[in-house]
Amino acid sequence: MDTQVAIIGAGPAGLAAALTLSRSMMKTIVFDAGTPPRNASSPFVGALPGFDKKPPVDVRQAIRRDIKSYPYARFEDAEITGLQRQDGCFRLTLTDGSIVTAEIVVLATGMTDCLPDLEGLGACWGHSIINCPFCHGIEWHGQRWGIYANRPEVVDAAEIYRHWTDQLTYFLAPEISVSEERLAQIRQLGAEIEHGLPKRVHHKDGNLTEVEMSDGKSIEMDCLLVFPNQRLPELVANLGASLTDAGYVAVDDGFRTSEAGLYAAGDLVYAGHQNTPTALHMGNMAAASIVMDYCFAK
Ligand SMILES: Cc1cc2nc3c(=O)[nH]c(=O)nc-3n(C[C@H](O)[C@H](O)[C@H](O)COP(=O)(O)OP(=O)(O)OC[C@H]3O[C@@H](n4cnc5c(N)ncnc54)[C@H](O)[C@@H]3O)c2cc1C
Repeated sequence: MDTQVAIIGAGPAGLAAALTLSRSMMKTIVFDAGTPPRNASSPFVGALPGFDKKPPVDVRQAIRRDIKSYPYARFEDAEITGLQRQDGCFRLTLTDGSIVTAEIVVLATGMTDCLPDLEGLGACWGHSIINCPFCHGIEWHGQRWGIYANRPEVVDAAEIYRHWTDQLTYFLAPEISVSEERLAQIRQLGAEIEHGLPKRVHHKDGNLTEVEMSDGKSIEMDCLLVFPNQRLPELVANLGASLTDAGYVAVDDGFRTSEAGLYAAGDLVYAGHQNTPTALHMGNMAAASIVMDYCFAK
């Protein structure tokens, strides 16, 4: 066996797991594909205690330094392309075709954001087009916000966004049906309602200036809130582990999946308040479960 634990993904969840495993003296390999993390386009991480407004890369580097101060974990810059169970262990296939065997695996690959078809979004994503008011809302406090309502739950949350600004415009996707009563409640909050989603944004150096509708109508705007749909990385989707109805990896309170020896932590298990502190918490909890399960199984 090459290692006790293999962690797939060195984002906040995988790194937190690796640190707790290192401090529990568990031999660990952390694999990372090196693809830009979800928040790579964001200039800073908001609401992470001790790192508020620091660049995302600083967070990862600091945790890596902590892990490297112990002799138990090593890092491999490699994408895992296959994961099979064989003869009581996991076999991980690396991009170059080589195989690493592990007793235990932690899935910490994060989720893939499927950004909507909105011209100009890329230049503003993480700056003036944001995905979370708790992470980036205060920077746009009191300014003109658009809400890209492509899902019913976004319509349900109007009262929350109103906390950050009273200049709200709701863009309602045609496929979402909203009752007249709810539309009236949103208007009572002082929000404007546009039926239809914008097709293009205009910006200056990533700072939003206007959004443009399909009929050419333009609306001045400072900040647009977009909650992208997400999908599981193919590696995880094809494993056969149970998924939630929403398509995330199902785990118990200890972040154990439906498959023995397979744990999961971070965005890929949780559709709700996805953020760095939550991912760190989950990684830490998964590692603690691994150590406890290991001790009881001996
Ligand atoms: C634009 C934006 C801004 C954000 N801003 C904030 C913020 O200000 N504050 C905050 O708290 N949160 C923020 N978030 C949320 C935060 O980025 C995520 O919740 C957090 O990164 C999730 O951590 P994770 O470890 O689950 O996954 P990720 O951070 O996505 O890390 C997953 C890692 O796994 C690796 N990986 C994937 N597949 C494989 C594979 N097959 N083999 C090897 N490695 C693999 C990837 O390369 C990646 O490094 C933001 C998100 C977005 C999209």
